[in-house]
Amino acid sequence: MDDSLEAPRGAAHSDRGPARSGRPAHSDRGPAHSDRGPARSGRGAHSDRGAAGNDRVGPVDPRLSLSVPGLGELPPVLRLEDLVTRVLAPNPGLWALDGTNTYVVCAPGAAEAAVVDPGPADAGHLARVESALTGLGARCRWILVTHHHIDHAEAALPWAARLGATVAAGSEAVAGPRGRLLADGDRVELAGASVDVVGTPGHCGDHLAFRLESGTVLVGDHILGRGTSVITYPEGDLLAYLDSLRRVHDLGPDALYPGHGPEMRDDPSAVIEYYLAHRQFREQQILAALSGGPIGIRGIVEQIYVRTDRGLLGAAEQSTRATLHKMLAEGTVAIGRDDVVSLLGQREQP
Ligand SMILES: [Zn+2]
Repeated sequence: MDDSLEAPRGAAHSDRGPARSGRPAHSDRGPAHSDRGPARSGRGAHSDRGAAGNDRVGPVDPRLSLSVPGLGELPPVLRLEDLVTRVLAPNPGLWALDGTNTYVVCAPGAAEAAVVDPGPADAGHLARVESALTGLGARCRWILVTHHHIDHAEAALPWAARLGATVAAGSEAVAGPRGRLLADGDRVELAGASVDVVGTPGHCGDHLAFRLESGTVLVGDHILGRGTSVITYPEGDLLAYLDSLRRVHDLGPDALYPGHGPEMRDDPSAVIEYYLAHRQFREQQILAALSGGPIGIRGIVEQIYVRTDRGLLGAAEQSTRATLHKMLAEGTVAIGRDDVVSLLGQREQP
């Protein structure tokens, strides 16, 4: 997660807080993901370097050098390739970025389509998706859902009932009693095309990606079109997340279509490598924060996320806890009473 959690100056999101249980937690934020590290303000011993005492600055997001639509500039409906039309849901925000991307997958001339991540149960959004289906001359056979967060799954069951489709997802709670439970390696068939299921846990436990015959992978919140993705804690799992990143990388995708933000066609593997490097960088920042002796989790967060909007520190703390959980499992740190973290000191510094 995390990482580019710096909020826009002057933005007021401190009142958001974790709302409903299914609250989507993804992105760090929008376009300004400058993971700049602590400010140079003379705070403590790490103040004069990019990141918490490390001599190197954080990895650079390869997308920053590309010309991509800015936040809020995605068109409402766009044919991305022969197989895929994207319909943008009207739920933009700090967490959902431009809004949820709903994808209509349909082979040219075929009579069946799959709708991936229907998103919020919104009448206008449904109308645009139905219009896209009508334009393709296809009926919706499947509603595929990448994960259970409400901004992806809310409309799944109601739209399935309306469109005569079957919901397929990685958890029964989303698929419903008449749905299909999906797992890694499954294949979903529809007329003229098939969709391969790729297990991608980490952002949350039931997360799936969908690989198309074109080489495109629909990645949900595993990889976002802007910034980096939050690993929720305790629901998410960083070790699983890293494995999932490598799994998608190994597929050699030709394009990544995320749950939020613009499509990634220019060297998608480089984006995944950046995600992996970014996670490692956050871990190094934690190691640097611990180098001066045991410190509370909140203190680590405050050292690493110096310039983060106060309203996002809760998300920053989830990210940090997810990272510490991995380091604990690997024997790098110990976490004592009152969340005081200390180094076990057996590990070489990167
Ligand atoms: Zn989402």
